[in-house]
Amino acid sequence: MLDTRGMSEPRLHNVLIIGSGPAGLTAAIYAARANLKPLCVEGFNAGGLIPGGQLMFTTDVENYPGFPKGVTGQEMMAKFREQAESQGTELITADVQKVDFSERPFKVWVGEDENELHLAKTVIVATGAAANYIGLENEDKLKNKGVSACAVCDGALFRGQDMVVVGGGDTAMEEASYLAGLAGKVYLAHRRDEFRASKVMQKRVLENDKIEVLWSHVVVDVHDVEKDMVTGVSLKNVKTGEVRRLDCGALFVAIGHTPMTQLFKGQLDMHDNGYLEVEPGSTKTSVPGVFASGDVADWVYRQAVTAAGTGCMAALDAERWLQANGH
Ligand code: NAP
Repeated sequence: MLDTRGMSEPRLHNVLIIGSGPAGLTAAIYAARANLKPLCVEGFNAGGLIPGGQLMFTTDVENYPGFPKGVTGQEMMAKFREQAESQGTELITADVQKVDFSERPFKVWVGEDENELHLAKTVIVATGAAANYIGLENEDKLKNKGVSACAVCDGALFRGQDMVVVGGGDTAMEEASYLAGLAGKVYLAHRRDEFRASKVMQKRVLENDKIEVLWSHVVVDVHDVEKDMVTGVSLKNVKTGEVRRLDCGALFVAIGHTPMTQLFKGQLDMHDNGYLEVEPGSTKTSVPGVFASGDVADWVYRQAVTAAGTGCMAALDAERWLQANGH
């Protein structure tokens, strides 16, 4: 329906889900099966995240139950999405620009110029977390020109060239192992002389003769902005202070994540590290009727299966909240 200014009247949803990783889509499946006709705003490119969430940046998922032979992150998220849709979820491929949780129904503005307002009786926040970057000026300038946080997305563009990966966690191991299949050689630069990654993933890296580990090294500059492409990095040995240049075609940064909570500042309570606070044992946030699931509220487990689990919890919490509040 159009109002006097030709704008369409906002629709009121029982459950509006923000995010479409394992948490958001599992919440969608459960809410749809409860006949709540959920709307899932799956994202477009907010903060570098895309529909499907972080799993779209992963290679093989070997630890999600039910896939004994493994499955790619992209395949898995396509299945989640298909299941959510076939159960009756409406999906919108756009970013949420603004929310107002100060009164009910909640307001959620969607689309580039905040032109689409949706009203919601309950909201499930499942915006996840985004990759961190080192914070160098030239790193930023060369993003998508050889600097990346996603080996699966961009690795093939630099096939045959030497590549540098930064980090010492599971993601860095995974990226380095994946890139070793494409690169001339992979240099894995880590700021300490011991990895924090799981032993099995460390082993894969340490036994791969295409990967050279540069212990106690940090990247202090990325070249070459003038050429508009990555031609190398400057590395500093933190023990000796020595800085040297290493030629490479790409830099993959794998140094952890930041929760996607910017939208909710001042509206939902957060921990000091920026992750959303939820009532222990539930997905309830500080605003009754708003629930949080997945990595946006979890910096401890951060697994697809735990995100899916809390997505299910959020849908059940929303359903019960609607019942209890006479909707
Ligand atoms: P992480 O475990 O937090 O590791 C981040 C790494 O980056 C650390 O080694 C850290 O160094 C380094 N780092 C942080 N800031 C840095 C900076 N400014 N400059 C240089 N290095 C920096 O993050 P993650 O590897 O993304 O893993 C996150 C979670 O996902 C973990 O729980 C992990 O187990 C899980 N995960 C699992 C799998 C899998 O099972 N297939 C795959 C990927 C991730 P320090 O060690 O010195 O702190």
